[in-house]
Formats: sequence, C-alpha cells, structure tokens
Amino acid sequence: MPDPLTPEQRHRCMSHIRSRNTKPELKVRRWLWQHGYRYRLNVSGVPGKPDIVMRRFRTAIFVNGCFWHGHEGCPKYRLPQTNVDFWQAKVSRNRERDQRNYQILSQNGWQVIVVWECQLTPRNIEQTMAQVEWNLNHNLLDIIRRQRRRKPKPYIAFDAPLPIAAEDETEYPKPAKQ
Ligand SMILES: [Zn+2]
Repeated sequence: MPDPLTPEQRHRCMSHIRSRNTKPELKVRRWLWQHGYRYRLNVSGVPGKPDIVMRRFRTAIFVNGCFWHGHEGCPKYRLPQTNVDFWQAKVSRNRERDQRNYQILSQNGWQVIVVWECQLTPRNIEQTMAQVEWNLNHNLLDIIRRQRRRKPKPYIAFDAPLPIAAEDETEYPKPAKQ
C-alpha cells in the first residue's frame, strides 16, 4: 500500500506525532503540577517512552490522541474518506505498538495509566483527573504494602541495652517528594 505523502510530508507528519508537548499532554501535566504531583518527562530507561513518568508511584502515564492511537468508539477517531486502508493500517500499527509498550512496562513492575484526548475537555477533565489521582494513590499504597512485606521488623532482645541517641533540636531535611 503506497504512502500518499511525499517523504518530506511524511517526516513532518511523523515528527509532529512524536512531539512531546502536545496540548492534551500539557493539560494533564498542568493538573498534576497544580495538585502537588511531581513527575518527569522522557525518562531514559523507562520502556515505551511514556509521556509522564511518576517514579514515586511507579506509574507511567500516556496521553493519547484519539485519532493516532485509535480510540475505539470515540467520535474523534474517524478515518479520513480517502486512503482508508492506509490510515487504518497506520492506526493499527500505532495501537499494536502501544499495547507492546504497556505490556513491557507492566512486566517491569510499572503501572500504566492511559488518558485519552477526549477525556480532557473542560467538561471531562476534572472527573478524568480524579480517576487518575485515585489510580496513583492506589499504586502508591500497593508499593508501600509490598515494601512492608519485604522488610521484617528488626528484632531487639529485651536484655540488650537499647541504643540511645541524643539529638538536640535537630532539623531534619524535608523528604523529597519524588
Ligand atoms: Zn477519544
């Protein structure tokens, strides 16, 4: 199936798709930031190049455009009238790649949250992000539970002298958020 675009057009098109600062992604980032969540972008070593990486929650967030990532049943995912086969193949390739990435992440112990562009309209964004927040906290609790299970409580014999540390008004550094 021939590509209807010239190589130059294709390059422009693809670099646009790959660009990181797409508007829906910015909406998610802004919301998270305003609600005190800190994150990283384009973290190397995290498979699948997630849009937003929240290490503390061991969660990767993908903000997907409904058309390019083929949001099933979404009015925004409507194939153009011409070159239907081409677009269909293109979108299903993207979908397969997405699924592969999600799988690799989850095999590496990451939680994946997918947010769709259409869920970020002014009408929907609060509900969507509340759901994202719920998932983040759920993931964090999971991490904490697993860590507790791994670390047995230290055993202190009763006849052993307990270690005593005298500290006068020590200023503890605030724990880093992420
Ligand atoms: Zn959609």
